Amino acid sequence: MRPEILNPLFAETEALDGVGPKLMKPLEKLGLTRIKDVAYHLPERFVSRHAIADLDEAGEGEQVVIALTPIEHRSPRPGSRGPYRVLAQDAKGNVCALTWFGKAAYTAKKLLPVGETRWIAGRLDRYGDMLQIVHPDHVEEASAAHLGRLCEPVYRLSEGLTQPRVASMVEQALTRLPDLPEWIDPGQFAKAGWPAWRDALHLAHKQDNPKARDRLAYDELLANSLALLLVKAEGRRRRGQALAGDGALRAKLQLPFALTGAQTRSIAEIAGDLAQEAPMLRLLQGDVGAGKTVVALNAMLIAVEAGKQAALLAPTEILARQHFETLRTMLRPTGVEIALLTGRAKGRERESILMGLMDGSIQLLVGTHAIFQDTVNYRDLGLVVIDEQHRFGVAQRLALAGKGRRAPHTLAMTATPIPRSLTLAQYGEMDVSRLDELPPGRQAIDTRVVPQERMDEVVAGVERHLASGQQAYWVCPMVREIDGVPDLAEIAAAEARYAALKERFGEAVVLVHGQLRPEVKDAAMERFASGQARLLVATTVIEVGVDVPAATLMVIEQAERFGLAQLHQLRGRVGRGAEKSTCLLLRGGALSETARARLALMRETQDGFRIAEEDLELRGGGELLGTRQSGEAAFRIANLEQMQRLLPTAHADARLLIERDDGAPGGGLASPRGEAARLLLYLFERDWGVQLLRGG
Ligand code: ADP
Ligand code: MG
Repeated sequence: MRPEILNPLFAETEALDGVGPKLMKPLEKLGLTRIKDVAYHLPERFVSRHAIADLDEAGEGEQVVIALTPIEHRSPRPGSRGPYRVLAQDAKGNVCALTWFGKAAYTAKKLLPVGETRWIAGRLDRYGDMLQIVHPDHVEEASAAHLGRLCEPVYRLSEGLTQPRVASMVEQALTRLPDLPEWIDPGQFAKAGWPAWRDALHLAHKQDNPKARDRLAYDELLANSLALLLVKAEGRRRRGQALAGDGALRAKLQLPFALTGAQTRSIAEIAGDLAQEAPMLRLLQGDVGAGKTVVALNAMLIAVEAGKQAALLAPTEILARQHFETLRTMLRPTGVEIALLTGRAKGRERESILMGLMDGSIQLLVGTHAIFQDTVNYRDLGLVVIDEQHRFGVAQRLALAGKGRRAPHTLAMTATPIPRSLTLAQYGEMDVSRLDELPPGRQAIDTRVVPQERMDEVVAGVERHLASGQQAYWVCPMVREIDGVPDLAEIAAAEARYAALKERFGEAVVLVHGQLRPEVKDAAMERFASGQARLLVATTVIEVGVDVPAATLMVIEQAERFGLAQLHQLRGRVGRGAEKSTCLLLRGGALSETARARLALMRETQDGFRIAEEDLELRGGGELLGTRQSGEAAFRIANLEQMQRLLPTAHADARLLIERDDGAPGGGLASPRGEAARLLLYLFERDWGVQLLRGG
């Protein structure tokens, strides 16, 4: 039950004027399903525009308002995903393109009749020899002098939404904000000079106001810390079971290699935790290829030796399958029963797995989130291993934790090289084991930065590579995010490249991107993994975990557009076999200092932790490494810089609220401030944490 006071904020977005069923999908895509989401949909940036009389007055990259007259509409070729363009001219006859991707083209048709002058606001870009405005922010009939206002918020959009629409929704949402009691520690609040919650939201939508932004970021960090601490407290309250293996099964493993020191140390740390009754909550951090699987295998065997079951959760179907195959092979000499459960298991197959889990004949389960479902019951689940943990929320972790009669131990594994200073925010107070040593004999990946203009040579290189019997990846760029439809443009790029490469290499090429149906995607992946296909053209969907040792060349187009963590993870797909591997980072023309430094760093090192730390230095702020591409940003409001600056205080404050739970003034969840903090938890939908609050 949500406190009444917040109810208006939790009303569906449809309760706002002008929001009909047609907008539900685009809103959902942005996570805007409740009014509070809209209120928290802060501007990405603010623009100040200037009105110009003709195109000669403005340069590339400028925000302008200008009167233009459409002269020609250009539809994309039928069946192609290219953009819809309207050519328009200014008073002097200079021509510029107005460009729309995807369904938004429909807007263009209606809004821009040929021969009728319109006021257009947007950012001037270059498209070949021409100037263009991609997805103009405003198209209006009347003189748009007011669009030249000093400062205008720019919101993240999705297909089907426009800036004015979102701005109007935000305006309405802000009128519904209730007055809430202050939850921030009075001393901290006064010292920072922050606005109150409601004022902060109003301010943050109106202007680039650092204090308002900080306050809202702090709220989010505080809510997160509170939730993580509550989970931890709950974990301590629930009893787990001590698992001491006798080593019998582990002794039967016949690994073709000796464990590294880091692996041995991590296994010992895990075994130490498992031997305790308190449920383990440990994060195994190890770069791509560091050998996390065999560590997980050892942990799971300890559970099985102790007579329990273990489950391994993978983020995707492909990875679940791969893990299953790898583990099944390694387990052969041990006689341990292992099964695979994904959403695709149906009918009798599924029934028999469920039976085996219930009667305990299946000792080890690998799967996707299907292993969470209510209908899946274990006889005695002792350990849960979560691979690529950043793809799973804490809530899901808890759902799984509820499966055993006693709380199972949890081992989370991640290859996301998060800097030390940020692990607290991302993972709370988990214990951490780090695989900071790669298995011996790994060859360095020969990484080179090549100008994009040398494309012909690159393609010729790929041809030689394929002719020599090896395989290759070709990763297509993230283009500039165009008002919430980056995927379309990205996919268009991948499809175009695929078509071009296919002309040259024929059936040897396959294409994988996020918009393909899972069966189609899996089929393509399988053709590549089995060696039938030699060249895989992809967007970043291949990022997590794919393992094809014979693929020893990776080409990444417009590498400067990728985050370093992402480049690092992509590159980790090669260099997995005995052959020497190469990674070609193709770069565009004019690079900034930072972009240059970042690519140089990629060339220089393969150490993910170092890349993460230095990227943080180079960029300072921006998105959290490795979260954005995972599709599950840890935080909606707090950015990286705010996390570093504000988190220690927020975390300390959360501890104060939880640990001094004695009703003392200023501390404790039962204090008035604690009551206010409960509202904060609701606001950020940490409901599962709230239930743990006294009386909640
Ligand atoms: P990741 O940490 O990315 O999950 P994997 O567990 O998939 O890494 O291991 C990558 C590869 O390294 C696998 O082929 C695995 O068999 C191999 N490997 C793991 N540990 C060692 C080791 N100590 N010595 C040699 N090879 C190892
Ligand atoms: Mg792995």
